[in-house]
Amino acid sequence: MRFDRDFTHWPIGLHKVAEDVYAYVQGNGPYGNAGFSNAGFVVGPEYVVVIDTLGTNSMHDGFIQAIRSVTSLPVGLVIITHHHVDHVLGTHRFMPARVICHRQCRAHIAAGRDTMVQRWRNMRPLLAPDLEEIPVVVPDITFEDRLSIHLGERELQVFHPGLAHTDGDAAVYLPQERVLFTGDLFFNQVCPAAFQGSVKGWMAAVQGLLALDTEVIVPGHGPIADAAALRDMGRYLQLIQEGSEQAFARGLSPEEAFAQMELGSFRQWFDTEHRLLQDIQRVYESLKSPTDSQT
Ligand SMILES: [Zn+2]
Repeated sequence: MRFDRDFTHWPIGLHKVAEDVYAYVQGNGPYGNAGFSNAGFVVGPEYVVVIDTLGTNSMHDGFIQAIRSVTSLPVGLVIITHHHVDHVLGTHRFMPARVICHRQCRAHIAAGRDTMVQRWRNMRPLLAPDLEEIPVVVPDITFEDRLSIHLGERELQVFHPGLAHTDGDAAVYLPQERVLFTGDLFFNQVCPAAFQGSVKGWMAAVQGLLALDTEVIVPGHGPIADAAALRDMGRYLQLIQEGSEQAFARGLSPEEAFAQMELGSFRQWFDTEHRLLQDIQRVYESLKSPTDSQT
């Protein structure tokens, strides 16, 4: 199955971002950018490390083709940045690789393994024909805060920044190459989705990512970027947090806050119309019960 991707305006497909380090970038689909995430991989001396495995069958095919265009080495390790379907459903294609993720990410995948594909098919019927026969793989290695993978001379630092996009996010940082794979801790030119996380926690996570020395940042959605674009997304989160806090204090409903929120150029981002209200609602939930939504 192929989607018309002509309406995207950023370079998609395979990008070499450092020696042996690649990003695989997708454009938009029939539901805006929703479900069309990015992935990456690092070619080691003996095996390939894959970062996220994408959503539908044709996406998996495209990604594997991209890997095979640069190396015939086996994929030995898969790092999953979080449990959302558009980042995990291709994992079975890399078996018998080991699969690493944060403890909470694994818990979500284990809990949803029998239902997550069907739920996505129901939610996104236009993607359903491309979601046939996908067995969900539950990762076998988990970590709490951080771990390092040593691929020859290269180090991949995998770390969890606390509650942000979800409660099980992981980013992958290559300090020598100054490359950062963020998973959905970074949506570039696409409205970030905070429906399962914490906007405030996410703001702190962005500050942590910005403290790293980076040249290239591969977001979970949208085009490859740098720290300036990540800082921009941090400003969006701050705007939503503060705007929602003020609206909440004035007794406005989330819908009223949504109608009044001054977004400026952020309104041009993809999917804002669908996600802004969810993001505001998430802040409202945290203000009503502060204990369960912050790091
Ligand atoms: Zn996500």
